[in-house]
Amino acid sequence: MAGTPQETPAYVIGSGKPGPVVLVLGGVHGDEPGGWLAAEQVTEFRPSVGALIVIPRANRQAILAGKRTTPELGDLNRLYPGNPQGLPMARMAAEIVSLIERHQVNVLLDLHESWGFYKERPYSGTAFLGQTISAFPNEKGIVLGQQVAAAVNRGINDSRDEMVYREYPPRAVAGAPPVSGQRTEEATPVRAGGSASLGLGSRFPDMVALLVEMGQQDQPLERRVSLHVEVVREVLRALGIS
Ligand SMILES: [Zn+2]
Repeated sequence: MAGTPQETPAYVIGSGKPGPVVLVLGGVHGDEPGGWLAAEQVTEFRPSVGALIVIPRANRQAILAGKRTTPELGDLNRLYPGNPQGLPMARMAAEIVSLIERHQVNVLLDLHESWGFYKERPYSGTAFLGQTISAFPNEKGIVLGQQVAAAVNRGINDSRDEMVYREYPPRAVAGAPPVSGQRTEEATPVRAGGSASLGLGSRFPDMVALLVEMGQQDQPLERRVSLHVEVVREVLRALGIS
């Protein structure tokens, strides 16, 4: 979104060798600092093959405002596949989709934060998605999501911090009406073409789409950041490009 107030850097870190392409999104929601601070650290990674693309502050103005987003900006994680003539975040969604097409992205990682922990309250609503990895349900996504959760957990001593692979769309929620007052957008069921970033898996069947959520409740920011970074590191390792 060059030249607009929403302009934000996208880091394209190539290796000069063919291989998988990973896109990391941070800062889709402005009040989830663990995601964008981790995404900024990830720009230091240097893939040995393929490429790593990072947009650390996807909704830069929401971050500056310290808010999830604003009605004027729109909620980026509800607006895929985007609209070049729409709200600023609909335009951002459209730019992300065209970037995915242009670079033939193999894995999309969207780094978010929730409030509570999924293990402590495993039901619908994005207020309790802490420590989860969800994949768009294609085979590659499910395998990678589970593999990465297990790999990250090998380095975790406190069971509360452990990552859980969360089935998506959640079985208990599919088809159920949204519960009022809950943040539901990250759990929006798969729709043709998208809506949430996870839904992009239906538009790009060969791509793996992963949603990563850390819980803010009683978990220090540095810990959330380091776990997000570990998730990205393990994805790169699983793909053989770290
Ligand atoms: Zn979020």
